[in-house]
This record gives sequence, C-alpha cells and structure tokens, in this order.
Amino acid sequence: MARERSLKKSRSKESNRIMPLPEHEVLAILRAADDIIAEGGRTLLSKILKGSKEKKLLELGLDRNPAYGCFKELKPEQIMEKVDRMIDGGFLKTEMSGKLPMIVFTPLGWAIERERRAEEFLREWDDWIENKIVPISMEYLKERNRGMILLFLYKILCRGDKKYIPFLSLWEQVDFKKVRAEIRNVMDALERREHLEESAWEQLKRERAQTLLVRGSDPVLAVCQECDGIYLIDETNPDCYAGGAFRFPDICRYCVEQ
Ligand SMILES: [Zn+2]
Repeated sequence: MARERSLKKSRSKESNRIMPLPEHEVLAILRAADDIIAEGGRTLLSKILKGSKEKKLLELGLDRNPAYGCFKELKPEQIMEKVDRMIDGGFLKTEMSGKLPMIVFTPLGWAIERERRAEEFLREWDDWIENKIVPISMEYLKERNRGMILLFLYKILCRGDKKYIPFLSLWEQVDFKKVRAEIRNVMDALERREHLEESAWEQLKRERAQTLLVRGSDPVLAVCQECDGIYLIDETNPDCYAGGAFRFPDICRYCVEQ
C-alpha cells in the first residue's frame, strides 16, 4: 500500500498535473491570454508571448500586455507547445467562434488570473500613490469583471491602509450602485482600522470577505495530485488569497484526511 502510494506520488510529480509549467510561465501565459479572451486563438496568444511585431498585434495594442515578449528567446513551436500544455493542464481551453477556435479561460485558469489582475491593479495604485499621481478618473475600473473588481476591493481592505481612501472615494463617484456600496464599506473599514483590536479587525475582514469573494459562474475544478480524482476548489476561501499568488490545495479533501 505504502509502495503504491509512493509510486502514485512520483507519477503525479512527473506529470505535474496541477502546474503544467513553472508557475511564472503559467501566470505569464494566463496574463497574455487575458487580453484576447474569446477574440484570438492559440497562434495569436503565442505571438504575444513571442513579442511579434506583426501589424495586427500592434494595432490591437497587444504589445502593451505585460507578458508581451516574455518568451522572445523561444521558437514559435516551443511557445505553442507551452500554450498546448496550458490547455491540457486545464487552465485554458478553446471554444469555437464561427469557424475559429478561440482561447478562453477554464474556471481554474480564471480563478488564478482574476487574482493576478486584482493584484496588478493594486500595484498600480501603490505606484501612483508613491509617485503622487492622481488619476483623472477611475472610469477604467468600471464595467470590468465584477468578481475581479470585488477581489481588488478585498485586497485593498486587507492592506488596512488609509492611503487608499482618496482613490476609493474617486472611484465611488463613477461606479454602479452595487460596487459603490462595497467601495463605501471598504472605506469605512479602513477608517475604523486604527481604532480596532487585532481580533475585531480580523473579524471585520472575514465579514467583508463574504461579499467580496465571489464564485465564478462555473465551479473551479482541479485534479488531485495524490489520487488523480477531480476536486472542487472553494475560491471564496480567504486562505486562497493570503500572500503571493492564488493558492489552492493540490490534493483533495479525502487525501488530506487519510
Ligand atoms: Zn485525492
């Protein structure tokens, strides 16, 4: 039994199902895909990663994608192979649009990318604040994916820093009612932060997490590294967002309990 278990383990490690590529490559490919979701296929995605100077790419402004050219040293077929491993690994998939297969996120791919995008927005705010830049308008945050925007708000809340309040107040002026209410809640929480004991602050963050961490429309599924079974990831669990990139358990609940 023990032997079987260790064999299974080494097999899983070899195939590395949950991360088909090194983490930074997974994140780069998801980020590149984010700008062409349902609008471009595997080839266009590979060209962004290659840093192609093709006219179409430049016209679409894809050279401004943070992952543009991140595999510029590789041959096109090597990049395509990485893209295909992302599809095999269950991070991306293709969906037909007319006669063309377009790249879309799987729920797992989106759970990871949505956290990365929220983090990117937060870093941008940090930069602006540090350099005393005040954006003319927060319109750019409007009409984004709601789950990502709420996660962005959750990340701001977790920082517990009042420096974000002026930006939040600018944003509050332009967004829709539902988001406005959440922005207001986060501003209030940041105001109260310094008067709260650590335990009360933790409690407040947990309460806010209930409305700020939302499920996507489809369940997020991953393959257990231990038993190869499919298991569900709860993307509303605040632990998934504690520090660094999106973290999820790599083995299922049954295997944890064994
Ligand atoms: Zn398992």
